[in-house]
Amino acid sequence: MRKISPLDELDELDELEEPDDWRPPLLPLIRYCGATGCRRRARPGGRHCAGCHAAAVRRYRDEHRRALAVRRRDAAATRDDDARARDSARAKLAMALRRGTLERGCCRECGARAVVGLIADPADWRAVAWVCREHRAAELERRREDAAQRTADAKQAAWYDERARVLAAIELLPPDERATLQALAARGPAGTQLSPDAPLYVMNLVRAYKAPLAR
Ligand SMILES: [Zn+2]
Ligand SMILES: [Zn+2]
Repeated sequence: MRKISPLDELDELDELEEPDDWRPPLLPLIRYCGATGCRRRARPGGRHCAGCHAAAVRRYRDEHRRALAVRRRDAAATRDDDARARDSARAKLAMALRRGTLERGCCRECGARAVVGLIADPADWRAVAWVCREHRAAELERRREDAAQRTADAKQAAWYDERARVLAAIELLPPDERATLQALAARGPAGTQLSPDAPLYVMNLVRAYKAPLAR
């Protein structure tokens, strides 16, 4: 009978083949609080744990109380109607929470208990969306995208209006002036000729009509 040596075991392990796409499993990335001596986990997206962060904010506010008050007063004096309405809605919400006439809900996305209130319409501040920190970021991102989309839509609509107005005005021009504009509009990039139904042709036409030199 053959004696089993540790080397035999190693040889057998060597024959175990790993599939080509095998990767070691990812370890969950855990970040710890950066405060000296604190071993709690850092907040998502932050350097410190929730406790140390809150303490740091309190300390900062205490140390800079006067400067912060001045800044708040200045900012309040220069804000526009929109900002004023939003601030007032937030203040009403804070007051309602203190008085207990309104209760904090759970995150409407994940049910977490630690939430902040998002007010969509300052005129209707009681319609609060309660969201946790993570879902607040997602919600704000969604609102920014909505706003950007609305701006893009408004720009598009303005361009269509203007195009219709200019094309109608060009129809009324004397034929030779119209021909000059059309010749300018047909000039494509690098000496190419654009056909009248190319989008760039229409843009060129509108630009040529509005340019003072072409008229
Ligand atoms: Zn900490
Ligand atoms: Zn949530």
